[in-house]
Amino acid sequence: SHPIHVVGGGLAGSEAAWQIAEAGLSVVLHEMRPVRGTEAHQTDGLAELVCSNSFRSDDAALNAVGLLHQEMRRLGSLIMRCGDAHQVPAGGALAVDREGFSRAVTAALEAHPNVAIAREEVDGLPPASWDSVIVATGPLTGAGLAEGIRGLTGAESLAFFDAIAPIVHRDSIDMGKAWFQSRYDKAGPGGTGADYINCPLDREQYAAFIQALVEGEKTSFKEWEASTPYFDGCLPIEVMAERGPETLRHGPMKPFGLTNPHNPTVKAYAIVQLRQDNALGTLYNMVGFQTKLRHAEQVRIFRTIPGLENAEFARLGGLHRNTYLDSPRLLDATLRLKAEPRLRFAGQITGCEGYVESAAIGLMAGRFAAAERQGRALEPLPVTTALGALIGHITGGHVSDDGLSAEEPGKPRSFQPMNVNFGLFPPLDRAPKAPDGKRLRGPEKAQAKKRAMTDRARAALGEWLGEAPAPLPAEAAE
Ligand code: FAD
Repeated sequence: SHPIHVVGGGLAGSEAAWQIAEAGLSVVLHEMRPVRGTEAHQTDGLAELVCSNSFRSDDAALNAVGLLHQEMRRLGSLIMRCGDAHQVPAGGALAVDREGFSRAVTAALEAHPNVAIAREEVDGLPPASWDSVIVATGPLTGAGLAEGIRGLTGAESLAFFDAIAPIVHRDSIDMGKAWFQSRYDKAGPGGTGADYINCPLDREQYAAFIQALVEGEKTSFKEWEASTPYFDGCLPIEVMAERGPETLRHGPMKPFGLTNPHNPTVKAYAIVQLRQDNALGTLYNMVGFQTKLRHAEQVRIFRTIPGLENAEFARLGGLHRNTYLDSPRLLDATLRLKAEPRLRFAGQITGCEGYVESAAIGLMAGRFAAAERQGRALEPLPVTTALGALIGHITGGHVSDDGLSAEEPGKPRSFQPMNVNFGLFPPLDRAPKAPDGKRLRGPEKAQAKKRAMTDRARAALGEWLGEAPAPLPAEAAE
């Protein structure tokens, strides 16, 4: 029979194609690289990570993205399988060797008998003969296709700006000043508790650094960029510095949970952390240091950081665009474009944010498309799961078809891309209590709530998957 088409072999498209193939259907994955590149991709590999190499927290009990990892593993995710197989140490986070990871995803899809990979740009709306298509072309969607989609949705496609962080050669870092340590010595999967490189700044160095950031020359803004908002989780450091001299000290440069072995009695005023970026451990990225400073300015200013005086940069930071749909208004509950249901969307273009979230939406889009082709009804995901909560955010019940806000009648709702977080989950029916029945308070209460939410999610996904309920701890102990 005729195949399902997936456009874009990034995080979402690779996962979607895999899910369709694993359902026993044939799929054509169209990827424009290397025929045509993007502003951020550097290789022709599928599922290339364009910036950080982190999938973020792997803690499925207390963290929403950790829970999402776990759910994706339970649904046979290719992205998680390859991520797990190519881990590099990163404290409590799951970080990966980006080349090994991308190679593994590419090899798995190339080897699958149901997958054909077409290296070509889909330069406009997909041909009418493709009756089931998943568009997973990401934040840097090719112009012709973006134009075609804009024509269908009638909307000006929303776009906003993100920035990427620099990568430093490990052997150019002065370990006489810097040191290895994870915050609070936390050891995650494959980690030792000493996974990050830390560079300390005293009060004067910090003040001079902030001033340099504020005064440093930035890449110029085209006029259409001027009104484009930043995504709050990915602010350039110079924009944070402009918000106030202490902002960075409370953000990516916070000094807590770290002790400088070269100077143990003096607390650093601020600390820059670098995280291992490749399996060899030869490259480290500057955590949270997205920037749109000019490249020469980055080199000059970052070399004022103690330990980085002679830093050699494998890549400097930069600015990029992000294209995404006003999904709550435009997509139905199975991610199809209401105006043209043969087109389904997945990944960052739907308005999720992040590698893992993009892959997660790809996973579900693949399953929706496969079920549709096979004439199976797919039960909606429980909204109490991380996958369900994320899809709920994107396809949202909060917006009426005219695009007006249900919460604030008459006001247009501005749909913002978002990482998965506990705020997207429905609240618990009742507050968790301590084992002795007492009321919990403060951090203990917050932890107990997260635990209860992730327990609830695990049970709901199990039920959705048709699994027998997990045994109670007492039975399991027998
Ligand atoms: P992508 O992974 O970008 O995949 C889209 C694919 O479609 C690409 O391979 C592209 O070549 C292809 N394509 C595009 N148009 C066409 C076409 N017309 N025809 C055929 N193929 C096409 N997220 C994080 O979690 N951490 C980060 O550090 C991070 N940094 C980012 C930095 C940058 C510069 C950008 C742009 C995004 C960043 N993101 C980050 C956000 C997001 O997680 C990634 O963009 C992620 O890769 C999105 O997955 P995706 O599958 O939707 O898109």
